[in-house]
Amino acid sequence: MNQDIAKVLLSEDEISEIINRLSSEVTKDYKNKNLCLLCVLKGSLIFCADLMRRLDFPVELICISASSYKNATVSSGNVEINSLTDNITGKDVLIIEDILDTGNTLSNLIKYLKELSPASVEICTILDKPSRRVKDISAKYVGSVIPDEFVVGYGLDYNQRYRNLPYIGILKPEIYNN
Ligand code: 5GP
Ligand code: MG
Repeated sequence: MNQDIAKVLLSEDEISEIINRLSSEVTKDYKNKNLCLLCVLKGSLIFCADLMRRLDFPVELICISASSYKNATVSSGNVEINSLTDNITGKDVLIIEDILDTGNTLSNLIKYLKELSPASVEICTILDKPSRRVKDISAKYVGSVIPDEFVVGYGLDYNQRYRNLPYIGILKPEIYNN
């Protein structure tokens, strides 16, 4: 295990079981629809890549960058979204997110997407931290509900590091308190 990790929250095997479950749920709901996966970069890259390879029906992939300006590990509420060049009008958009925390990022993103007239917009997040929510928003598909801890790995970073860890772990507080 990486020495900066205090505890593994989800092992590779546990993540794989989550992906199996989520892909069956998404397949059941979308196999006869116009599914367009919207990968929110960069944190959701690995999750999206794993999930989409379990979907055995036609899907479209588009990517968007959304980032909330941060001081260390806390979201500020100011969210920057790059505009989409892909057309989502009339499509069933499923936002693929790494973690739903305060809800600021996704509520801003959904407001932006709805102006582009998709047929539907739903959220699939691998992690959910409901204890910190400030916006009235919830995900249709949730991998795992986690406590209020700062986690990294499986795409999630701290200062652009740790994204390549194959598991999701709690970062030792001394790493970001220094
Ligand atoms: P929100 O806008 O819902 O507060 O935050 C969503 C974004 O904050 C996530 O997409 C993620 O980039 C970041 N975030 C929130 N909690 C964590 C965490 O525990 N670890 C990491 N690495 N990022 C987090
Ligand atoms: Mg994110």
